[in-house]
Amino acid sequence: MTQTVEQETFTFQTEVGQLLEIVAGSLYSNREVFLRELVSNASDACDKLRYGALTDASLSSEDALEITLSNDPKKKTLSISDNGIGMTHADLLATLGTIAKSGTGAFIEALKAEEKDKPGLIGQFGVGFYSAFMVATRVDVVTRKAGKAEAWLWSSDGKGEFSIAPAERAHSGTTVTLHLKKDAKEFAEEARIRHIIKTYSEHISFPVKLGDDTLNAAEALWTRPAKDISEEQYTEFYRHTSHAYDAPWHVMHNRVEGTLNHTSLLFVPSTQPFDLFESERKSHVNLYVNRVFISETTKDLIPAFLRFLRGVVDSEDLSLNVSREMLQTDPQLAKIKASITKKVLSELKKKANKVPEEYATFWGNFGSVLKEGLVEDAALRDRILEICRFASTGVGDLIGLADYVARMKEGQEAIYYIAGDDATQVAQSPHLEGFKAKGVEVLLLADHVDEFWLQHIPDFDGKPFKSITRGAADLDQVQSDDMPEAEDMEAEANLSALIAAIKAELGEAVKDVRPSKRLTDSPVCLIADDGDMDVNLERLLKRHGQLQHGAPRVLELNPSHPIITKLADCAKEEATSGDDLLKDAAHLLLDQARIVEGEIPTDPPEFARRLAAVMARAFSK
Ligand code: ADP
Ligand code: MG
Repeated sequence: MTQTVEQETFTFQTEVGQLLEIVAGSLYSNREVFLRELVSNASDACDKLRYGALTDASLSSEDALEITLSNDPKKKTLSISDNGIGMTHADLLATLGTIAKSGTGAFIEALKAEEKDKPGLIGQFGVGFYSAFMVATRVDVVTRKAGKAEAWLWSSDGKGEFSIAPAERAHSGTTVTLHLKKDAKEFAEEARIRHIIKTYSEHISFPVKLGDDTLNAAEALWTRPAKDISEEQYTEFYRHTSHAYDAPWHVMHNRVEGTLNHTSLLFVPSTQPFDLFESERKSHVNLYVNRVFISETTKDLIPAFLRFLRGVVDSEDLSLNVSREMLQTDPQLAKIKASITKKVLSELKKKANKVPEEYATFWGNFGSVLKEGLVEDAALRDRILEICRFASTGVGDLIGLADYVARMKEGQEAIYYIAGDDATQVAQSPHLEGFKAKGVEVLLLADHVDEFWLQHIPDFDGKPFKSITRGAADLDQVQSDDMPEAEDMEAEANLSALIAAIKAELGEAVKDVRPSKRLTDSPVCLIADDGDMDVNLERLLKRHGQLQHGAPRVLELNPSHPIITKLADCAKEEATSGDDLLKDAAHLLLDQARIVEGEIPTDPPEFARRLAAVMARAFSK
């Protein structure tokens, strides 16, 4: 036969091969979801053809777009057929032999490692078309691209190879036929099929037919009133439109009537999508015009800082002829974008206020993305700031800025924060001691975006943001019961000789040496001087090669720490003021302050030598 002669055989991309092995071998209790995946793909194909026909009349057809199932319990086959866009030979190679999804490599590694939790992980990641191999020993795909005459048969047993051969198909579209495994023959039974479609595909906009029966409502879900939609239907629709496998954290279904009518059905996922931090910062909300699918991902509809959103926006007031390229400049679309953005921010605000614990989960997933908006959209800054949450030294897990301001101590002028890259390290920083002692709350910022927006936003509610690792600690005005002022002054006066000695010894290595108001337990800490760049920002810039050398820092001494008081006494006695001990101690104090911040001593061998010398002296007494 000529067909076999023309048949070509290909090897699956390595990742697909690995994935298929896992899929075929897994005892996935929920394997009926394969049908959801195949119907979902058929629906996508119909959407694509409808869009294609808008701009290319030759693609439009008399036939209504639909998905047809046919089953044969005796032969143990099930096929899913659509009259959508279809695939060319090249499409087949590009889509049904490779896997384009980002994060696949990491996912496969995770699957290999996590023997036990395979089903959970598969469910979370989703394997789309390949899930057919959970139930089939062989999958045949006959497909013909709209506008093309030739058709192709793709076929595979899911064991490393697939073949493509020329085929016949009367109309454009795709038919996926599953030759079911023995233990999966239930999926060729009508009752089972009806039930699965009801469960997972009720929301599909195109008719899903079995014989003459249409199994679903076959109308766009978002056009139905919210009260008629169940939570399960929303969840399945979310999974279909976003190619996701979790359940939505929040559903927002709104209809806006007025100058620009539009309906939006938007979802906030409950887990981070794989591409959240890719540099493209793509948004993934589908745009429909009067129920016709226009574009899959567009920045012109959803701002990048809300790119975690999934779902659809449909407007009957946009032109159907709007091409994907023209979207960028469409003023109508810009208005819809603005309206949706405000709506989403206000819904998030409600969540933040009403269910703070749930909001904390959202914040953990998407807070750092949302904070990009603080810099990117000055007009929305205040709305975004309202829903930002931060860790702090105060009670409770996360705090909003309004609550912070409400909790400020009498006499406190600024919103204090400390920034760094490690949450634990930041929370243990010696700089916090004085603030804790006075009961002054400090925000603990360990997200690298924080440093970025802080450069652009000087204050909240008229209160400046102030880093506690930079400039003088203006804790004096803050009311407090402990720390008698007089004693303080006296202790400071005691330090003058020591300060002079340390300055002389450290020279250029420090900008200044001062008594500290922010330390209670630690002997020393380093801070950036008032006019200089904050410590964490400097560290960030250095790491990214944008800064060669930082400015020298100010070394602060705790006037009431025993090491410091002893050293101060030494420095006052003229006989010992030139002593090596004092010199070594000066360097050791500086290095100690560096180490606490996660830096290394300025000169590690010298550090070790000095430490040994000081210890030797201590033990020889
Ligand atoms: P996803 O749907 O998330 O893209 P799948 O594994 O489900 O991933 O499908 C892979 C790709 O195969 C689809 O993106 C599409 O390009 C193609 N495809 C699958 N089924 C069909 C179909 N019925 N008609 C046209 N293309 C299809
Ligand atoms: Mg799919």
